[in-house]
Amino acid sequence: MEENSNFLRTIIKEDLKSGKRDKVVTRFPPEPNGYLHIGHAKSIVINFGLADEFGGRTNLRFDDTNPLKEDQEYVDAIKEDVEWLGYEWEGLFFASDYFDEMYDRAVLLIKKGLAYVDDLSADEIREYRGTLSEPGKESPYRDRSVEENLELFERMKNGEFANGEKVLRAKIDMSSPNINLRDPVIYRISHATHHNTGDKWCIYPMYAFAHPIEDAIEGVTYSLCTTEFEDQRPLYDWVVRETEMEATPRQIEFGRLNLTNTVMSKRKLRQLVEEKFVDGWDDPRLPTISGLRRRGFTPEAIREFIKAAGVSKGYSTVDAQMLEHFVREDLKLKAPRTMAILRPLKVVITNYPEGEVEWLDADINPENPEMGTRMIPFSREIYVEQDDFMENPPAKYFRLFPGNEVRLKHAYFIKCNDVIKNENGEVVELHCTYDPETKSGSGFTGRKVKGTLHWVEATHALPAEFRLYEPLILDDEAEEGENISFLDQVNEKSLEILNGFIEPNMRDAQKQDKFQFFRHGYFNVDPKHTTADKKVFNRIVSLKSSFKL
Ligand code: ATP
Ligand code: MG
Repeated sequence: MEENSNFLRTIIKEDLKSGKRDKVVTRFPPEPNGYLHIGHAKSIVINFGLADEFGGRTNLRFDDTNPLKEDQEYVDAIKEDVEWLGYEWEGLFFASDYFDEMYDRAVLLIKKGLAYVDDLSADEIREYRGTLSEPGKESPYRDRSVEENLELFERMKNGEFANGEKVLRAKIDMSSPNINLRDPVIYRISHATHHNTGDKWCIYPMYAFAHPIEDAIEGVTYSLCTTEFEDQRPLYDWVVRETEMEATPRQIEFGRLNLTNTVMSKRKLRQLVEEKFVDGWDDPRLPTISGLRRRGFTPEAIREFIKAAGVSKGYSTVDAQMLEHFVREDLKLKAPRTMAILRPLKVVITNYPEGEVEWLDADINPENPEMGTRMIPFSREIYVEQDDFMENPPAKYFRLFPGNEVRLKHAYFIKCNDVIKNENGEVVELHCTYDPETKSGSGFTGRKVKGTLHWVEATHALPAEFRLYEPLILDDEAEEGENISFLDQVNEKSLEILNGFIEPNMRDAQKQDKFQFFRHGYFNVDPKHTTADKKVFNRIVSLKSSFKL
């Protein structure tokens, strides 16, 4: 699709034209403390997309400065997701690769009189910081000598102090109107084993200090992040300047992406996973990349969706139906069409010879004839959908009811004669007759019927499980408060599991293969629950929606 223009592209074009920059280097900097979600996809598409467009490069860099929350499992999952989305990183880095250099740069700040070791507790630091309307108060430790600071910082590094006993703070301005500049903490003590550096360090740099240094080390020209970092930009620039980094990356903010009827923060996603509201980070109801993949969304659909949602400064909540629109568009010509019965009702065609089977030719995708045809069996026993029959139908019901004739897709007209019920009065079988003259493709014009039903021949059908999804979060506008949690809005009916049948030619369908089931929508072969004996299908989307782009 035609790329919408956006303000980031405009800035880059101007910089390149005026000679302010001579290349585009970006990075995607996830913290490995959870799985990526569709919001991250926006950041990925922007960072990789802009670099590609201007012949630049993009690094994948793990922002692993918090040893307590980070894990190799997340690192591996993030790499897999970025690749699956279709992007190739230039360099693969970890913030922890730069801990030595960050330490040296912190020492440089101390030597310049621009950083000091503070003994105030976290609570005191917060108190001293002041508010938007009141200036902060200087710490009594602010005027320690350079020598004392150097010695204390080294002792912090050597593990001589407990967690929280001391921090290193930048010495900027306690009365700055920008609270971020009121002597921010840049190093803290954490006696924890890091997933990369093990026990080498017990002091860790804070994000606001680490991130600009990481960017500058890698020669990043545009450090693109979300708008909650806007107020930190002066600090970002201060760190780059005062630590005397050679490169001067420029931070530019864009609006976060949000989707309706879901949650996006990693904290909430983790809670849903850990408290077993869902079946892991890749549950098909989650907006994680791995969940979307398992549901059956394609990288193409996700990329096109992100581009269409656009890049603006504003925070946007986008209708989840827009994402669904793009997967329909992507699969329309690609997905083979086939018939599946989700809630089976047996039909016996009483005038069809017993024991006989005929094989009918059916196109695989009428909108894409190159996909060819498939063979489907037809015999005396078939399955139709339970809700394609009504004993006492309302007016304008054109499907099966006693005395009515319908067309079976790719096969014949059948007419309903008898309804068989069990002892509870439930319909368990229909007896119909077919008309051999009406075979599909024979050019029969004798009479018309209004309803066309899908069906699956009973003796060759393969059993299958179908998983239908509804939004995970009922009302995402609902208030959150002290005693109200987003968990109260979790939709208990977000997953429905059905057991039915698919055509025998589906025998070789592989995990992650996608199909359009006639009248039911697009489905993906679930990679987690599918076994050699039984395929499990996730419904990606139904066929129609009221959503208009
Ligand atoms: P969360 O709040 O979901 O935990 P995060 O911002 O803490 O997300 P990071 O791993 O730090 O997660 O994010 C990596 C990059 O992705 C950052 O540059 C961040 O700004 C960007 N990003 C995260 N969420 C979104 C979103 N919803 N829309 C756009 N970009 C996002
Ligand atoms: Mg973050």
